[in-house]
Amino acid sequence: MSSITGAGVSPGRVIGPVLQMPPAVPEPDAGVGLPAEASVEAETERLKSAAKAVQAGLKARAANASGDAAEVLKATALMAADPMLLKSAAKLLAAGRSTERAIWEAAEQVAAQLKALGGYMAERAADVLDVRARVVAELRGVPAPGIPDSDVPFVLAADDLAPADTATLDPAKVIALVTAGGGPQSHTAILARALGLPAVVAAEGVTSIPSGTEVFVDGSAGLVVAEPGETERSAAAAWAARGALPAFDGTGTTADGQLVPLLSNVGDGEGALAAAAAGAEGVGLLRTEFCFLNRDEEPSFEEQSAAYKAVFDAFPAKKVVVRTLDAGADKPLPFLTDATEPNPALGVRGYRTDKAHPGVLERQLQAIAAAAGQSKAEVWVMAPMISAASEAAHFAGLCEAAGLKTPGVMVEVPSAALTAGAILEAVDFASIGTNDLTQYTMAADRQLGPLAELTDPWQPAVLQLIKATVDGAAATHQPPKPVGVCGEAAADPALAVVLVGLGVNSLSMNARALSGVAALLKTVTLEQAKEAARLAVTADSAETAKAKVRANLPMLETLGL
Ligand code: PEP
Ligand code: MG
Repeated sequence: MSSITGAGVSPGRVIGPVLQMPPAVPEPDAGVGLPAEASVEAETERLKSAAKAVQAGLKARAANASGDAAEVLKATALMAADPMLLKSAAKLLAAGRSTERAIWEAAEQVAAQLKALGGYMAERAADVLDVRARVVAELRGVPAPGIPDSDVPFVLAADDLAPADTATLDPAKVIALVTAGGGPQSHTAILARALGLPAVVAAEGVTSIPSGTEVFVDGSAGLVVAEPGETERSAAAAWAARGALPAFDGTGTTADGQLVPLLSNVGDGEGALAAAAAGAEGVGLLRTEFCFLNRDEEPSFEEQSAAYKAVFDAFPAKKVVVRTLDAGADKPLPFLTDATEPNPALGVRGYRTDKAHPGVLERQLQAIAAAAGQSKAEVWVMAPMISAASEAAHFAGLCEAAGLKTPGVMVEVPSAALTAGAILEAVDFASIGTNDLTQYTMAADRQLGPLAELTDPWQPAVLQLIKATVDGAAATHQPPKPVGVCGEAAADPALAVVLVGLGVNSLSMNARALSGVAALLKTVTLEQAKEAARLAVTADSAETAKAKVRANLPMLETLGL
């Protein structure tokens, strides 16, 4: 039995065989041509059979998968047999390229053509590049890249997962995620929480566990144990036998009746419907990037307003907080952000892009206002990455000009937390983005696994800045203007209690987290939440803060959180 520790980012205790994510397929050498003895005809046939095998494999997986994963696999299977792709590759083979190089370059060309077409076709470019990697793997006789396939449920081990991997991750097959890289705010962590899968990230050594080895994963303790013993088996059995959490009844409250609206973070109309079905009291963060990412141009006014309206319509008479475009750093956007910046996280991103590219934000606000005018939702708008009161005032002016009545800001930068009072003179509310606030407070890139200990929202410095924001709001207005939290911290039930104890008014999270947060909050009085906040803020490390608060909330264990 050997164990590896990392950061536990999504609760749950399970046992299953590990499957390692195969490494990415390296680009075939451009300097190696078709060997003199090889026949172009025979190689063309070999290429065709490899493409057919890839297609058959993808089709078989699609048949066994469900939901989004099945759709993505079906679309990719279609691409694998695309005649245009195979024709271009055959031409390149005839021109002397090696078989692997021919399909590689042909796919490059097809992807470029699809991108130039824009819209839906541009989105298919990624499928073509996925197909080429699979065909090259087939030609080489090595495992296909991406999430491995298996008949039995397994624990997926990887360096880290990319957003593109998430589409083919079938939650019916994958029972836990363990990664060597990533941090509490990484894509792997966010995905695991959204799917309700136990996960441990920043667990150095998990990529060396041979595929097939049985492991125990504890997503609360951050533990991965190879060849588990009796203790781990009974812990996993107890987890499996736990009662299901009661569904969220649509009213977030403490045990003594302090109302804490529990809202949801959503990315599109479909997500909004799912959030409404899960009982969300509204939307606390609509990430509007979904409308813009993978685009070469700004989406039209009509396209934007239709997309926003789809979200608003899921929440009639409820609050929907729209965050204006947050491009840059981990969300680059070719027409708006500069990829050559030396430090993109500290660069022209979020609200700051308005200065470099005036007009995009104003047009977005007009589209939001138009959609709001045609729906019954109570629409609030907020700008990401605000660092000073002058920026908040400028944003409020733009909102007013667009006819939007409730402007606010995200508090994601320490300067905004420290000057929340002045900022709230200019706008009506603040929503704390703990993912970025943690990154900037700790000066630690949220995407880097080795910094996971720092990029933890339990860091007392981060909690102190949340307190400063709440205090700033209270010092300027009576009653204080609302301060919510919409970062991942709100989805951690124990940390959610701390946030309520710090005086945060509302919490916004992925829809799946609502039931756990609501169930725990209901067992805690406001006084107990304040005590949890005191314990956490005065702790000397994130680890101690979390341990002390968890020890003080015994209901966590009973609820399986
Ligand atoms: C945050 O930074 O906490 C946040 C909610 O925004 P995002 O994760 O989209 O940067
Ligand atoms: Mg952010």
